Amino acid sequence: MTAIPRLSIPLPFPALLRTAAALAGAQGGGAEIAAFERAFAARYGRQDAVCFCRARMGFFHLLRCLDLAEGAEVLIGGLHVADFVNIIRLAGFVPVVVDLEPRGFRLDEDDLERKLSPRSAVLLVTHLSGYVHDMPRLRKICDDRGVMLVEDCSQAFAARYDGQRVGTFGHAAIFSLSLLKSVCTLNGGIVLAEDPALLERLHRAAEAEGAASRGPMLAETLKNLVIKTATWPPLFSLTVLPLLRLTAAAGDWFARYQKTNKTVVLRDRLPPVFRERFTAVQARLGMSLLPDLDARESKRQAAGRLLRSLIEPDGKVALPPQCDSADNGYWLFPLVVEDPARLKAALSRQGVDSAPMLLAALSTEAAFAGMGFSAPNAEWTRAHTLFVPMYPTLDETDIRRIAAAIADFQRAS
Ligand SMILES: *Cc1c(COP(=O)(O)O)cnc(C)c1O
Repeated sequence: MTAIPRLSIPLPFPALLRTAAALAGAQGGGAEIAAFERAFAARYGRQDAVCFCRARMGFFHLLRCLDLAEGAEVLIGGLHVADFVNIIRLAGFVPVVVDLEPRGFRLDEDDLERKLSPRSAVLLVTHLSGYVHDMPRLRKICDDRGVMLVEDCSQAFAARYDGQRVGTFGHAAIFSLSLLKSVCTLNGGIVLAEDPALLERLHRAAEAEGAASRGPMLAETLKNLVIKTATWPPLFSLTVLPLLRLTAAAGDWFARYQKTNKTVVLRDRLPPVFRERFTAVQARLGMSLLPDLDARESKRQAAGRLLRSLIEPDGKVALPPQCDSADNGYWLFPLVVEDPARLKAALSRQGVDSAPMLLAALSTEAAFAGMGFSAPNAEWTRAHTLFVPMYPTLDETDIRRIAAAIADFQRAS
């Protein structure tokens, strides 16, 4: 039986090959970028959005455009792309880490209340794996304390709360358009906002960046191609999964290859590649993924709901909590398990691949020691999360196989 790889690259082979060729050509093409920005914004009922070379740079410029007070605090959840801590500091502000709920992926509202201070200016709410926060509650907490709410929807392009798309609850929202994101433009990020004056400032900041260098973009195209080839199910079943199984004791090298930020450093300035413009070639890739984005994401969500309904949580395997009014995007499907290594091995024997958490627990990063971060729940959840396959091309048979493999593990242990 063919195995089920942990992931599926959304960009098709022809688009990746065309991109590799186009990267050699001329840049420019502001009209194409503007068209992509407006088409993306329209999904959310907004007029416009602004593209940057990375989501973190979108967040950097957003913070700089918000007229925050000196020494203002920016609150961020305990599991995140570690570099966001650098981004907040280099933008001139103070990062404050908020813990997550126990065994789940949403912010712990009690810890949030504890960590709010008179200097709190921005709360970055990240809908991890597609798990949606209780947005009216967070909105109220922020409004009461005069804090601006910004959503990170990199893992939640199609998630909703009470029918309303996440990304439209706050002052602004950021989306990463990087590897595996529902809209991938190689690298890239987009900032969604409603206030025309803010959008204007963001556009000016985006235009002031330097020309994009082709090397990193070409490398990212190759990475997409390599991973797409390696996860082609026949090849994956015959070579990649058996190799992963043989070398399991040495750790998950597939995850290491996939991970972009392999080491976390405390930066004293932004690297030059972060100061580059988003390009027309990227806008073209993004545009190509928009027409059937909702169709793809609906399939993913249906698969996610089915798998959730087939799993019976017990002491060994738990499902993260979610709110009743939320329409989970299921960008990934995390299980919270007592012993992830054992479950991973058991699933692998049944041809079901799985992946560890790639985000950092900000409170344990040595580079950030001394910043006073505390988020014990996030640390626990990071260590106990295992992601089983979840993407639009899985069919019902695949989902039932994943559920059966999990149930076998529960019975056997
Ligand atoms: C992928 C991801 C990012 C990546 O941001 P970039 O700066 O575009 O690399 C940010 N936030 C979350 C939640 C992500 O999953």
